[in-house]
Amino acid sequence: MCLLCNWAVALNSAAHVSSRRQVLRGAGTFMATAVAAPSLPLSVEAAPTKRKPLTPRSGKADWLFQNGKIHTANPSQPTAEAVAVRGNQIVYVGDMTGAAAWRGKDTKVVDLAGRMLMPGFIDSHNHLATLGVTKLGLNISGIVGKDKVLKAVREYVAAQPPGATLRGFGWSAHSTFGEEHPRREWLDEVTGDRPMYIMNADIHETWFNTAAMKAAGIGAHTPDPDPGKQYYIRNPDGSLSGLAIEGAAFPILMALGMTSRETVRESQRLTIERAPSQGLTSYFDAGALLGGESSSGNWVFEDLVARDKAGELPIRIVGTVYTRSAHDDPHAVAEELVRCAKKYRSEHFRIGACKMWTEGTFPAGTAKLLQPFEDGARGGEMFFTPEHIEAQIEAVQKAGFDMHVHVDGDASTRIVLNAFENVQKRLGPQGRRHTMCHVSLVDPTDVPRFGKLGVVVNGTPL
Ligand SMILES: [Zn+2]
Repeated sequence: MCLLCNWAVALNSAAHVSSRRQVLRGAGTFMATAVAAPSLPLSVEAAPTKRKPLTPRSGKADWLFQNGKIHTANPSQPTAEAVAVRGNQIVYVGDMTGAAAWRGKDTKVVDLAGRMLMPGFIDSHNHLATLGVTKLGLNISGIVGKDKVLKAVREYVAAQPPGATLRGFGWSAHSTFGEEHPRREWLDEVTGDRPMYIMNADIHETWFNTAAMKAAGIGAHTPDPDPGKQYYIRNPDGSLSGLAIEGAAFPILMALGMTSRETVRESQRLTIERAPSQGLTSYFDAGALLGGESSSGNWVFEDLVARDKAGELPIRIVGTVYTRSAHDDPHAVAEELVRCAKKYRSEHFRIGACKMWTEGTFPAGTAKLLQPFEDGARGGEMFFTPEHIEAQIEAVQKAGFDMHVHVDGDASTRIVLNAFENVQKRLGPQGRRHTMCHVSLVDPTDVPRFGKLGVVVNGTPL
């Protein structure tokens, strides 16, 4: 399960409504933009196939990779010995003899010496703007025991300039502190009145000190966002002990600037800048979760486009406009998608889909189920009516874009499949590549429907 999608449930329960979208509801402006939209994503996808094949006569390759085991992912030519590249285009895939024709005096030749070369990895569900920030600050992974952890925290705090945000990550329940929950008083001992949080390794739990609690304005009076699922560990008197579970940490994280422009930019050295070294060539961003509504993350798109134009974006990124609230108007969301796709676009960045969170998650017990759990728990309810989901799919498809729908329970999976089926009855597939992400639980009778509808299952572990 995608951890950020898990958190999105908490953001949903936070006080927010989509004010702009509600204003746009029924404004009647959708059709005009929808007519103009289809050329946007289609032209990007179609562009490479329209290129005229290049030959060595019109110029030699800039790069030649040869003498390796090259896996092409092309069934008609699964392996090759050499690949030649000119500019941003692969101009040759074949044997060494054919590759020689592409070699000029300025060609940079990489001898693979028998090693493997393959197309880059595409991360098909990530939260680029949001996930990197969970790995900033002090890394305490591998440090075992309260005393050793606090020693590391003391040294970290001493090394930070005054006013710097104190944060960290990497502890694990049980293995770091034994059976004890980490407490805010422990951190207070070494941080004094400077706020600090330390997320655990899988970001499900956040340890915080008293100053952080005060900075966020939370305390004994603060209700749990989703009791039993997203909540605070409390002392017997109801006061907060210093540990937030799941999205209950959001008030602290936001108060300490985790979603600020500076923090997100800092985190991109862990994501965008490291991507090529990990073999990643493309990211699908399933929602820049930086506030209550989709537009909260638009400044990230602006940054990425600016970065690309400056020649500093080393990967391709496909961004999304998202909807999570029943207050959102499907046509206004589609209109916003069209608007953003026009506005935020560069050679390596585009907005390509609408992300729709329809419910919580199976692990958190907030996904809609066909039958209760063995312990009698009944799971959750969807954020939208089936009619709303169908209307959203239809509006986005008519605008020429794909849907990326978050579902995790078997009941919700069926409802979303029904919605896709109904839309296809009216519109046909129209070449769309809709996806349903997570999809932890599917009734066996629904499994064949994905293939029939051409809806891609995006399993998305993290
Ligand atoms: Zn996600």
